[in-house]
Amino acid sequence: MFEYADAAVEAAMAAGARYADARVMDGRHESMDARNGEIEGLAQAGSVGLGVRALIGSGWGFFATADLTTEAAQAAGTQAAAIARASASVPGKDLELTPVDVRQDHWESAVKEDPMTVPLATKGDLLVAATRTMREHGADVALASYDVWDTTKWLVSSEGHRIDQHIRECGAQMNATVNGERETQRRSYPGIRGQYGTRGWELVREMDLEGNAARIAEEARELLTAPECPSHAATDLIIGSEQMALQIHESVGHAVELDRILGWEAAFAGTSWLDLSQLGSLRFGSELMNVTADATLPGALGSFGYDDEGTPAHPVNIVKDGIWVGALSGRDSAALAGLSESGGAVRGDGYNRLPMVRMTNVGLLPGDSSLEKMIEATDDGIFMDTNRSWSIDDKRLNFQFGCEIGWEIRNGKRGRMIKNPTYTGIGPRFWGSLDMLGNESEWTFWGTPNCGKGQPGQVGHTGHPSVPCRFRGVRVGVRG
Ligand SMILES: [Zn+2]
Repeated sequence: MFEYADAAVEAAMAAGARYADARVMDGRHESMDARNGEIEGLAQAGSVGLGVRALIGSGWGFFATADLTTEAAQAAGTQAAAIARASASVPGKDLELTPVDVRQDHWESAVKEDPMTVPLATKGDLLVAATRTMREHGADVALASYDVWDTTKWLVSSEGHRIDQHIRECGAQMNATVNGERETQRRSYPGIRGQYGTRGWELVREMDLEGNAARIAEEARELLTAPECPSHAATDLIIGSEQMALQIHESVGHAVELDRILGWEAAFAGTSWLDLSQLGSLRFGSELMNVTADATLPGALGSFGYDDEGTPAHPVNIVKDGIWVGALSGRDSAALAGLSESGGAVRGDGYNRLPMVRMTNVGLLPGDSSLEKMIEATDDGIFMDTNRSWSIDDKRLNFQFGCEIGWEIRNGKRGRMIKNPTYTGIGPRFWGSLDMLGNESEWTFWGTPNCGKGQPGQVGHTGHPSVPCRFRGVRVGVRG
């Protein structure tokens, strides 16, 4: 496959490009879903092709083809250069690229049990058993599904990169819905979007869907008669790691995408409240807040060997001791922002999509407390977990989140279950109130397989290491 990428890059350079790179991508996806003890659907799809980028002056050109022949690859390279030349006719400074080590390498994610070769019947039986158990324990609608992705990429650049990667990802999710007289309640496991990683089928087995099916169905039914979340202008709020993952994704991850900060990317609640002049000095949160973007974490969904520009995966400090110190970047955005190197965060969703800045594994480093200690240390507060709804403004500053389930905390003990819990906040004020952080044994690499960005839309796979956290003085419940 390298030969087609070579042909595309050579053609783009011959047509006047200053830099060019090409990716051949072969992606396969399989998913199955079950409802109330029956398999409802199986989808298997694949796509293979080549995408080539050419840089001329201030503009990129991109062209893709599904025709894997030398002639088609050369034509794509020539076309990418022609598009770059047209983009460069808009006046602007030449786009620079930060330097990167040029590598020739092979990388693959670690897999114990290849999810594509586990028999469909074995995978299906797991979904059937989980949904049947949820039904037997009171769910009106019991759903479960899994997804498997198997992607091979070959990257060549005019600087000499020659990298092939084999990335296997999978995961599963399930939920139980119960209908009351006036409302519906739902519990999901392991989270609203399930759990996904760059791992084999062992990840799905370890989740033990069936072993958790009865509990979530019963919790959903219990929620129907639970009291509503009280409204408080300021209370102590403990948040479980699954909801924390979404809190990080929405209010930190998207906010630190350099293309948003630079104003290149304004779709899907784009732009950011962060101003580059404050990089290195702005207080984002309390001193306990340490966030990294680290594509090297084994098994996390945002892990890889190299990004789609050939930058090796490496950890990037995003927030250090509460201060904003880093961004998610690629070679062009890093150069424009005056950063010394790319953050290695550029990926494209398939061969026919222009790679763009995407989250890798953006997450919190663990602290030294624990969920148990947080509850013990709280006189009057609320514990919420499992995301249900979210809303955040375009600048990624003001937010409101709803969770599936909550519990009152009274005098250091977990009390009554409460339903429809919600909380609101403003990014830096909320993160500034973080005062307890779970420890390494509670550190979970949550995976989000459906992060939307760009036009045309691209779906990104991102990871969010997180732990349970306590925040002080947070507004919860319906605004009174
Ligand atoms: Zn997203």
